[in-house]
Amino acid sequence: MTQRIFKAEGLVLRTRVLGEADRLVTLLTPEEGKFEAVARGARKTKSRLAAGVDLFTYGRYTFHRGKTWPIITGQDPIERFSWFRDDPDLYPYGVYMAELTDRLISGEEPCAAIFRLLLEGWRLLGGNNDRFLLCRSFELKLAHLAGYSPHLHSCTNCNTDKAALFSPRQGGLLCSRCHGADAIKMGPGTAAIARRLIEAPLGRASQVHPTDCQKKELACVTAAFLTYHLDLGEIKSRRMLKE
Ligand SMILES: [Zn+2]
Repeated sequence: MTQRIFKAEGLVLRTRVLGEADRLVTLLTPEEGKFEAVARGARKTKSRLAAGVDLFTYGRYTFHRGKTWPIITGQDPIERFSWFRDDPDLYPYGVYMAELTDRLISGEEPCAAIFRLLLEGWRLLGGNNDRFLLCRSFELKLAHLAGYSPHLHSCTNCNTDKAALFSPRQGGLLCSRCHGADAIKMGPGTAAIARRLIEAPLGRASQVHPTDCQKKELACVTAAFLTYHLDLGEIKSRRMLKE
């Protein structure tokens, strides 16, 4: 980002109040990564900018480099993902994907694959897809793209394939001889499903059919992995998901 005026496609991950009438908008863009920009006057009802900088908007934006933050001088919304506002059950899922992405991406590095993943995730949430599996697939793929793929083929320590425990701290499977105090249960079937969710396209997440027990293990493992191994702390919006 060196020119005074630049353009980018972006996804609105978060917005917060800034001063009397402005908004500070967190955007995820393919080329410039994640950054904050000011939407001047966006809290005024007649603002031309307001509609284009709402959470869950996919748009084209023009920026002017300001002293502290870039200033949004133009916007052209492409998709608004209105289903997150129309369906209160769906809303937390959209927020969760946005929050997780926001927390995992540290700054202004190109992240085209993560941009596409979030855009696809928001689109798929609006369709008739299994939300639980979509979220687990999204989490695992996001971690993988950010360089934190869990080791799910064999024991992380001794490489035996008889590994049915998962260590959030070590970020992978462990066998009954190698595990430590933080190990949680992850049977071979659950590990196979998690591998499938990483490898298959996000749109095919609904095609795997875990048992209730495997779903429970998958939820525990991904939550523990994300909060502990990725050092994210608690992800607030995950508590709101109806799982
Ligand atoms: Zn082992």
